Amino acid sequence: MQKAIFFDRDGVINSDEGLYYVFARADFKINPGVIEFMKEVSRRGYLLIVISNQGGIARGLYSKSDTDELHRYFLQICSVEGIQVTEIYYCPHHSDFSNCLCRKPQSLMLEKALARFDIDPSLSYFVGDRETDRQTATQAGVRTILIRPNSNLMEHISEVL
Ligand SMILES: [Mg+2]
Ligand SMILES: [Zn+2]
Repeated sequence: MQKAIFFDRDGVINSDEGLYYVFARADFKINPGVIEFMKEVSRRGYLLIVISNQGGIARGLYSKSDTDELHRYFLQICSVEGIQVTEIYYCPHHSDFSNCLCRKPQSLMLEKALARFDIDPSLSYFVGDRETDRQTATQAGVRTILIRPNSNLMEHISEVL
């Protein structure tokens, strides 16, 4: 079995300060310490997987293709840094419009990743900035690293055993 670090996106990987939804490249600023943190945990053998709610899609504020395009941009930045992100999962739904099984705090996206990549949840971590991230992780038996939004991830590297 493998082990993984799961990352929430907005407020963890990229800054969401002053922005409720991030969908434009110009607004996509990677938070301090993220690249270094990803490099360090990759070296230690963790897969890197992103799990994100993108309810702005259901609200019609941006599209799935905008989101995919932003993710290609992020993956490009990672690849320049020599970082391999295994997968990015996102929920395009919003509870104001429909009930889905994927929107955090539900754990379907996380469960899918655990099954698909044969990941042992007890060896894995979810890095999030909201209580809903913790609930998602707990339901799937994954430990949580809860950070202040947009803070330096390297402050938490010692929590990864
Ligand atoms: Mg967040
Ligand atoms: Zn969903």
